[in-house]
Amino acid sequence: MKSIGIDLGTANTLVYVKGRGIVLREPSVVAVEAKSRKVVAVGNEAKMMLGKTPGSILAMRPLKDGVIAEFDITAAMLRHYFKKISGNTIFSRPKVIVCIPYGVTEVEKRAVEDVTLEAGAQSVALIEEPIAAAFGSGLKVNDAGGSMIVDLGGGTTEVAVLSLGGIVMSNSLRIAGDELDEAIVSYIKRKYNILIGDTTAELLKKRIGSAHEATDRGAMEVRGRNLLSGLPAIVTITSAEIREALRDQLEDILEGIRNTLESTPPELASDIYDTGIMLAGGGALLAGLDLLISRMTGIRTVVAKSPIDSVAVGIGRVIESGSDMNGLLSYRTR
Ligand code: ADP
Ligand code: MG
Repeated sequence: MKSIGIDLGTANTLVYVKGRGIVLREPSVVAVEAKSRKVVAVGNEAKMMLGKTPGSILAMRPLKDGVIAEFDITAAMLRHYFKKISGNTIFSRPKVIVCIPYGVTEVEKRAVEDVTLEAGAQSVALIEEPIAAAFGSGLKVNDAGGSMIVDLGGGTTEVAVLSLGGIVMSNSLRIAGDELDEAIVSYIKRKYNILIGDTTAELLKKRIGSAHEATDRGAMEVRGRNLLSGLPAIVTITSAEIREALRDQLEDILEGIRNTLESTPPELASDIYDTGIMLAGGGALLAGLDLLISRMTGIRTVVAKSPIDSVAVGIGRVIESGSDMNGLLSYRTR
């Protein structure tokens, strides 16, 4: 029986297989037939359909704000990935560790366990995302010294202070990558009367997005629809405009970090001033975000190596070590 780890994210799903490392990275998107709800495409293939599907097909993201919004669709997606990773070998039910955001309810936790079992797992255990992200980004989580990790995903930003292998303080903000994309859409609508799609907004964020003027990244031309004429339109957007579009959302994220620091016990807070803040998750790749956070908090801030992989790598470390994390990891079977 295989041991695998799953980072079931709002934006991306990653699968780690014991002894093999990360074997799958795909968007958490599923395309279904509108009427029958029959799955027609999963992952990359389905993401390309987002915003482009005819009425009969629906491309959707089954997770919202870090939790499962569509149970059956999430199960179908996982089932598809389990099959994909087992290739042509006879499918044996894996033993799975899945991460969940900190602070989700018992019902939401239970749904993640159920969905994993429903998709074909033999057993399932849960691990809290900030811990996995910290392990995966190389923080010394088990030390008594405090450390801070900020995981900026698609649906949630998790800010956590860790010490002695546990979470001392944590804040889960429902402002993350998706809200940044939405802010870009509404900025361009307000300023130019042009409506662009979410995928275009995400592309702008990745290509020319910047959180600080020291990391300006030029300009980019995008297509949308002029809301007055209803006709297709082309507009050139600058990096400075994206910065302006993201200002409020980034300010909210900064406030979440400040609030967490303020409620951290003084000894640990002073450790964080020494060790710095670690950024993980895809949002950590926003140019200049580390600079913005370090300027605004006065604390050195670094981006994890391959931040999109941090959580999966962290679960992988747990799997490879065979540790039960001092009893924290408990498997449930069908
Ligand atoms: P989740 O854990 O919620 O699935 P991820 O950690 O995979 O999320 O991060 C996905 C988010 O990261 C998306 O909102 C995506 O737009 C964003 N992202 C990915 N690359 C970049 C980049 N280069 N710049 C800014 N944001 C990025
Ligand atoms: Mg994540």
